[in-house]
Amino acid sequence: MPELPEVETIKRDLERLIVNRKILAIRTNSAKQVQPSLKIVQKAIVGAKITKIDRRAKILIIFLDNGKTLTVHLKLTGRLLVRKRGTPKDNWQRIVIDLDNNKELRFADLRKFGWVRLIKNKKELENLLAEFGPEPLSDLTFEKFKEILSKSGRPIKIVLMDQKKIAGIGNIYANEALFLAKINPCRPANKITDKETKKLFQAIEKVLKAGIRYRGASDQYYLDALGRKGAYQEHFLIYRREGKKCLDCEAKIKKIKLGGRGTFFCPHCQK
Ligand SMILES: [Zn+2]
Repeated sequence: MPELPEVETIKRDLERLIVNRKILAIRTNSAKQVQPSLKIVQKAIVGAKITKIDRRAKILIIFLDNGKTLTVHLKLTGRLLVRKRGTPKDNWQRIVIDLDNNKELRFADLRKFGWVRLIKNKKELENLLAEFGPEPLSDLTFEKFKEILSKSGRPIKIVLMDQKKIAGIGNIYANEALFLAKINPCRPANKITDKETKKLFQAIEKVLKAGIRYRGASDQYYLDALGRKGAYQEHFLIYRREGKKCLDCEAKIKKIKLGGRGTFFCPHCQK
């Protein structure tokens, strides 16, 4: 699933590619992914101009000049692609928004869990975004982070991935940050020492920034808004490296399931 660095990369692409463009039409072959309905969305967005792109957690927010907003969640396999009109259909293309510069904003999604949702006003947007915890690269302070960990006895990795507690961290970057901080993913969050908490706080910032610098991880479906792969998968520290040597101590990296998700760690370094 695209996480903060992947969605942030798409956000920055879209800022460059679709801001100030007018929406001419929207169509879909997967009606349930346009919410609340294609008809309502059509009526609200056709003719409006895109004024700003934002990201909160793993959600992309497209602001329009008529006060309405489109939010996009890529979920497991979603892609947002900007293509020239008339170019061949993308794989798993579900929704197309025609723009006034001979381009199309395409939403492609193999698994069809993703969605494009109309938000009618500021209040509704605030309600949607209030579900998420602080952003790790902006409003998450060390004090707040410490407080979040101290309040949960669940495994630290599960707490890091809980969007209500901290926004944007998913399986890849949780694994990577815990490796950097040398913390076993199964440890109860409230048993992490202050010193470790400090290391983990810094590790989260480091891996997310690396993810953004490499334009995301394309180990599975993720592509940027121009259909290009990211490169962070070439720099994985621990993720998907089971059976290989730890980069620090040469012990064999282990893989377990934690909360149903593949979890990778060095049994020697991560205590
Ligand atoms: Zn190790």
